[in-house]
Amino acid sequence: MTPTQIATDSALVSTSFGCAVVIPAVDCPCPQVASVQPQLRDDDCLVVVSNGARSVAHNCSATVLRARSAVWLECPVRLGAGAARNLGVAWLSGRASVLAFVDHDDNAHDDWLARLRAPLADDRVDLAGGVLEVASGDRRHHVRPGVDFWHRQTVYGSNCAVTREAWQRLGGFSTHVGTCEDTDLAWRAAGLGLRIEIVPTAVVAYTLKHGRAELRQRITWGRFSVALLRAHHLPLSRHLPTLRGLVAHKRSHGLASSPLIAGVGQFVGQSVGRAFDVEYHPGP
Ligand SMILES: [Zn+2]
Repeated sequence: MTPTQIATDSALVSTSFGCAVVIPAVDCPCPQVASVQPQLRDDDCLVVVSNGARSVAHNCSATVLRARSAVWLECPVRLGAGAARNLGVAWLSGRASVLAFVDHDDNAHDDWLARLRAPLADDRVDLAGGVLEVASGDRRHHVRPGVDFWHRQTVYGSNCAVTREAWQRLGGFSTHVGTCEDTDLAWRAAGLGLRIEIVPTAVVAYTLKHGRAELRQRITWGRFSVALLRAHHLPLSRHLPTLRGLVAHKRSHGLASSPLIAGVGQFVGQSVGRAFDVEYHPGP
């Protein structure tokens, strides 16, 4: 897939960057861009990969391009977040030392980028993952990416950064494991011996879905968790959680509006994936 429209300052086409923040967008990314843009240094850039609906209230691309060192790539079809991030990185052609990722509908804290890139700049780490801040009633709490499916450390695709060299070794996000592309990336990174660090001070506010939207999201996650485990040749009987385990995990982990709906949704998705989905293969 190549973008049908590329809009940017022509000088950026041949510029090298310290860090590029890539935002896949299926809707208006302007609030997230407004959060990230002030965090960019003079030699950084922002790449938005639009692959869905845009606001009818304003011109998103014009708004984004007012930001310093901004690039707007547009595709006519939805790509999935992993493929959209890959497209943004491909446009950079290896010109960014660090690649950072957030989603269009979240909200990065003011010091998010500085915190997340610090261990990469020090050359201590190859892949860094931040935490998600979620609201629960009047309280907000942070959710840290953990060891998924009793296998390996994960990162959130909506809050992570990677060095150029590590990205090249990984070959980008896999497009064969759907919405588990972030866990797949972290697992493959560990398999390559790359250094992963969770940065608890790199925070992105995440909006939980509710009701049917949460159910649909978790069914999808459940299906692709089966694809993920198959891609990594891990036995489903040992690595897929039970319904009781899923609900308990949602309750303790905190990344769910309703632990019951989220747990049931993921369990239904797992069951559908086991019964009907075809085998998936690793790699991007
Ligand atoms: Zn917009």
